[in-house]
Amino acid sequence: MQFHLNGFQPGDPEAVFEKKDFSVSQKDRALPQTVDVLIIGCGPAGLTLAAQLSKFSDIKTVIVDQKPDRLILGQADGVACRTMEMFEAFGFSEKVLKEGYWVNETAFWKPDDKDPNKIIRNSKIQDTEDGLSEFPHMVLNQARVHDFYLDLMKKSPTNLEPHYSRKLLSVKINNSENQNEKHPVTAFFEHSDNNKIKETVSARYIIGCDGARSVVRKSLKLSFKGDSANQGWGVMDVLAITNFPDVRLKAIIHSANQGNLLIIPREGGYLIRLYIELEKLNANERIAHKNVTSDHLIAAAKRILHPYTIEIKEIVWWSLYEIGQRLCDKFDNVPVDNEDTHIPNGFIVGDACHTHSPQAGQGMNVSMRDSFNLGWKLASVIQNKCSPNILRTYSSERRTVAKELIDFDRKFAKMFSAKPKTANSNQKDNVDPKEFQKYFEKHSGFTAGTAIQYYPSIISSNSKHQHLALGLKVGMRFHSAPVIRVADVKPMELGHTIKADGRWRFFIFANSDKPENPISATNALIDFLRDNKNSPIVKFTKPYEDIDSIFDVRVIFQQSHREINLEKINPFLLPLKGKLGLRDYEKIFCIGRKNGEDIFKMREISKETGCLVVVRPDQHVANILPLKAFNEISEFFDKFMTKR
Ligand SMILES: Cc1cc2nc3c(=O)[nH]c(=O)nc-3n(C[C@H](O)[C@H](O)[C@H](O)COP(=O)(O)OP(=O)(O)OC[C@H]3O[C@@H](n4cnc5c(N)ncnc54)[C@H](O)[C@@H]3O)c2cc1C
Repeated sequence: MQFHLNGFQPGDPEAVFEKKDFSVSQKDRALPQTVDVLIIGCGPAGLTLAAQLSKFSDIKTVIVDQKPDRLILGQADGVACRTMEMFEAFGFSEKVLKEGYWVNETAFWKPDDKDPNKIIRNSKIQDTEDGLSEFPHMVLNQARVHDFYLDLMKKSPTNLEPHYSRKLLSVKINNSENQNEKHPVTAFFEHSDNNKIKETVSARYIIGCDGARSVVRKSLKLSFKGDSANQGWGVMDVLAITNFPDVRLKAIIHSANQGNLLIIPREGGYLIRLYIELEKLNANERIAHKNVTSDHLIAAAKRILHPYTIEIKEIVWWSLYEIGQRLCDKFDNVPVDNEDTHIPNGFIVGDACHTHSPQAGQGMNVSMRDSFNLGWKLASVIQNKCSPNILRTYSSERRTVAKELIDFDRKFAKMFSAKPKTANSNQKDNVDPKEFQKYFEKHSGFTAGTAIQYYPSIISSNSKHQHLALGLKVGMRFHSAPVIRVADVKPMELGHTIKADGRWRFFIFANSDKPENPISATNALIDFLRDNKNSPIVKFTKPYEDIDSIFDVRVIFQQSHREINLEKINPFLLPLKGKLGLRDYEKIFCIGRKNGEDIFKMREISKETGCLVVVRPDQHVANILPLKAFNEISEFFDKFMTKR
């Protein structure tokens, strides 16, 4: 898809003739006085959370931002493979695939040993290894990601729209002895364009998605620890003409003496982003005070690219920043000493609790995935489906991820900003371009977001039965693989059945018995789930709810689709649902044999025994169990689910 040929146009590239009016403000709508969830900030973190909660009509959610309207330009643009899997759950991955840039290959450039004033290509590598995810690594303007979430919220059952021009001033949480107070959070606002207009909102929970200078973080008295690397960088989105051959590849360029440059090709075929290294800063010196202009950035880019040339035709957006890594000790308002007795009701998410360098493209991704972790937990607690204890796992799970990110980023940013080792320059701090490339490749699973693993907790089991499915690690995201849906013989990804709807998934990988065998281990498990008083489905689903409204059971058989006779299948797999009691035909799958893709082989699942894979609403594997482990299934859910 090509666009921006005649200059940059914000918004939906397919709506070329639509008047793009970004001035419609929601500021005249008064804030409600009481809500369940109050979200501060319409960045990627806030919008992911709002989009998740907007699906639940029984939850009153409000999202505010101090800005007058939605983002139009700039900020982050990297969308990692794991984030694409999450977008699939929200239902807009295909829009990103269509509109965004696909990062397939990365080029590494270094000084030419023969003439270090010139740069020369060192190597090209595949950006993400095969099989890491069914989705590619993508690049798309953060503003468009916001648009997709905003559209989704507006079309949701709650028709949720942000309240703009609302600046949060402070937050007070009444966490005294009375833990039963319904709305313990009070938030104080003023209108961004008129500080005489004040508003107050009471909430059950407040979520600070308000970026690096978070007011929520300060109000919750959470300290942001870390340092600055005293290194200034500039970033600009431009339409340009250049003879640099790798301009449509992600290109990492280390020059001998002129600094370093990262080129990120952007959506639409013409736009590019340049990350340009500026000079080192002294301690306490700020890049914002150095009077750096866009002309300085262009001049630096030209010097680094020598002998290639670049002529900038249009600057769409530019900004300056300093590299630094900062992290909070806790991402919620319960002090470590009170963790066993108190339940959090204030949380911080995204840049509010961790910041790092933008070159590794993690800021937007990790922030959105923080929210994906928190959203279903909040919803399940508010809807009385789960014990409030699960809210404690947000900080422990996501802080571990953020800490790993900070440790990775500290080294990555240092190597990125270092001078390259060359035949003529071999100082102690110089970095061999090959070493940098190795570091980049070694951490590709981490930067893609697919290597994240949550540790055992009440919602994530230990690895006792891991041997039953070695390719689906407990604690990691469910790694999708192709299957055939039996009823309509549709080839599809099994992981794409997991939507951002707060439901748990039971993937039953059948053993080799025939599907119609009534005494097979697979059918015994299905009978247990359907009828037994200890079954989580029987215990936690209300009689008037659809049978799959809390737990969505899907079975994957080893036989081919023609060998599976729907007339003889356990009727629980063809449930009657909805007002009209219509039959759901989309629960039964089998191995896709046409292209030799066998999900059992790909994910190392025992064909002899089969197994049950339990997947959380945020797509992480919570447990792997033998088909006959009825007691263990009950015990796992009894720890955190509530009878409503
Ligand atoms: C100017 C800028 C440039 C960036 N450039 C890049 C880049 O080039 N590459 C990259 O990878 N990443 C970049 N980032 C970082 C990336 O955008 C963030 O990592 C990502 O947006 C984090 O998402 P978030 O939702 O946690 O926070 P943010 O995106 O920062 O969103 C926070 C939101 O909260 C609102 N807010 C803040 N305080 C209040 C308040 N008191 N009351 C009401 N609302 C409030 C803000 O207006 C904002 O909309 C940039 C960030 C900024 C701010």
